[in-house]
Amino acid sequence: MQGKILIVDAIATNRIVLKVKLVTAFYEVVQATTLAEAVEVACTQSPDLIITALSLPDGTAAALRQRLRTEPVAKYIPVMAVGAQASAPDRLATLRAGVRDILTRPLDETLLLGRVRSLIRAHTATADWQMRDDTSHALGLAEPERPFADQSHCMLVSADRTLLQTYAMQMRPVVRMKLTLASVSTLMTELRNKTMPDVFVLILPADTDDAMDALRILSALRANANTRHAGIMVLQTVADSALAATALDMGADDLMAKGFDAAELGLRLDAIVRRTRRAEQMRTTVRTGLQAALFDPLTGLYNRRYAMPHLARVSEHAIKAGRSFAVLLADLDHFKQVNDIYGHAAGDAVLVEVADRLRNCLRSSDMAARIGGEEFLVVMPGTPQFQAQRAALRICQAISAAPFVVPGGTQQIEITISIGMAINENGCADKRPDEMIQSADKALYAAKGGGRNQVTMARPAA
Ligand code: GH3
Ligand code: MG
Ligand code: MG
Repeated sequence: MQGKILIVDAIATNRIVLKVKLVTAFYEVVQATTLAEAVEVACTQSPDLIITALSLPDGTAAALRQRLRTEPVAKYIPVMAVGAQASAPDRLATLRAGVRDILTRPLDETLLLGRVRSLIRAHTATADWQMRDDTSHALGLAEPERPFADQSHCMLVSADRTLLQTYAMQMRPVVRMKLTLASVSTLMTELRNKTMPDVFVLILPADTDDAMDALRILSALRANANTRHAGIMVLQTVADSALAATALDMGADDLMAKGFDAAELGLRLDAIVRRTRRAEQMRTTVRTGLQAALFDPLTGLYNRRYAMPHLARVSEHAIKAGRSFAVLLADLDHFKQVNDIYGHAAGDAVLVEVADRLRNCLRSSDMAARIGGEEFLVVMPGTPQFQAQRAALRICQAISAAPFVVPGGTQQIEITISIGMAINENGCADKRPDEMIQSADKALYAAKGGGRNQVTMARPAA
């Protein structure tokens, strides 16, 4: 199935006509006759799209859209309306409520199916991000939602300079965005520019061949790293449903098939920018969520959650390849005193500097993690004992050789570190990763007992 569509209409013949068109195009169809029933079906059946009559026995398409906004499971399902020719104010009010488009009866099948494909594709794409975003929120890894404060930027694109200026003049009083004008060819040359607009309005010429040519910019915008996620609105000066469907299939986010209308265009552009920014925020949350899931925020080293599976993988590879690898457990000496004497903030600054010095002692294939307050784990693949020992000594010296000066302070703080080391020589299959950690921990304990600021090697198992 291509997707599931909920049809909402009190009049049975309207539902049947629409259903036939959609089922023929391989969509699964569910139905409701009232606003209340539509909300229930939307929440229980998770359709990918809702097509509703403009007016229902218990409300309007706009009311349905607003009602769905309060339902967490249904709030992002796109809603499209179908009706007789609506008055201009009604049409604007419906769009303002978040209804994506209003089609008039009799339905133009090509345009209808083009719209349906485009809305379902966009919804499925954001649904994937939405799911990952939800996971990040559940894990407590999400960024707090920020309001979109900055002014957005819209570029009007057409070969006809006079037309661009006329449209821009009419848009300025109703659109809060920064408006710029460009021809298709200047846009093409500017595509490498890092700061591209949030949304493009591609104005199609009246001639069909010229319009097809102009549509090619859509693929270019979608293929370009700087504009891949930008919003794209296609504006037809002459209605042509086949061309409209092509534009939507090529990745236009929205389309106006009935010519220019400044107020409606403004509303639609606002909606596009809201949607693209929400998608961008979801992507950021997932990225920072992943970042937070793997890295220690204070030092930028890996965290325990990353380190343990990484150690398991290094161990597995070493055993397969018969290669040696080393594990170091390091713990700062008398660190509690550093906090007691200089304060916790100074202690934190020392930890950051320790991490830097530690990193500088290691190769890029080594992994360093902060696995406790002032405890570090280093995993060194492909490393025999003598090399690991040299690296561990280097770390000890790098920490003790020069005193630490914390930012804003003048005092020099002497820091030392103790290190316990365990080796799996030649990838011995009997040595499990957790046993390596245990051996290194015992060795660390011995290093502390032996006077600190030193490296101790784990004793081979008896
Ligand atoms: P030892 O040589 O035996 O390891 O002595 P120690 O004082 O380092 O001993 P212990 O491991 O018991 O104490 C660790 C201290 O590290 C406790 C806490 O004050 C401090 N610490 C742990 N995490 C942090 C942190 O994130 N920031 C700061 N500033 N201090 C931390
Ligand atoms: Mg400790
Ligand atoms: Mg300590």
